[in-house]
Amino acid sequence: MRFIIPLLFLLSGCGALPFCGFIDQKKPYTNPPTDPVFVQYIKRFNTEMVVSTNISTTFGPMDDKHAGICHSWSDGHREITINKKYWDNYSDKQREQLIFHELGHCALNRDHNDATITMNDTVCPESIMRSKIFNLFEIAYCYNYDYGHYLQELR
Ligand SMILES: [Zn+2]
Repeated sequence: MRFIIPLLFLLSGCGALPFCGFIDQKKPYTNPPTDPVFVQYIKRFNTEMVVSTNISTTFGPMDDKHAGICHSWSDGHREITINKKYWDNYSDKQREQLIFHELGHCALNRDHNDATITMNDTVCPESIMRSKIFNLFEIAYCYNYDYGHYLQELR
C-alpha cells in the first residue's frame, strides 16, 4: 500500500511533461546569436512585459526531461537553451509559453510557481512559471481561456 499513493500521484499529475530549468553556471559563457525561430516570441514577450530583453536563445543539447533551460551566471549574464526535440512538436502557444517561461527566469528573475487556481471549473496552473510546461488540455482550458491572467501574473 505504501508505494501505491506516490504512484497514483505521479499518474494523476503531469509525469511525462518536461521541466523548464533554471541553472547556475560556473563555466565561461558563449553568448551565441539567437536562432531566428525564437525572435517573434521574444518580441512578443518584450511587448507584453514592457521590457527590451535580448537574451541569446538557441537550440542546444540537453537531457530529455528538460524542454528549455535558462543559464544564469553570477555576473548577471543569461543564455537560454531550447530542446529541439520538444520544440519541433509544439504548437505556437506551447512554443510561446516555453519562451515566456525561460524569459521569466532569465529576464524577470522569476522562480518556479507550482500553485494551482480554478478557472471555469477547471484546476489550472497559476503561472507560466510552473516547473513543467502545460499539456495541451491546460493550454486549451487554462492558457487560452484566460491568457490575460497568465500575462498579468508574469509581469
Ligand atoms: Zn523553469
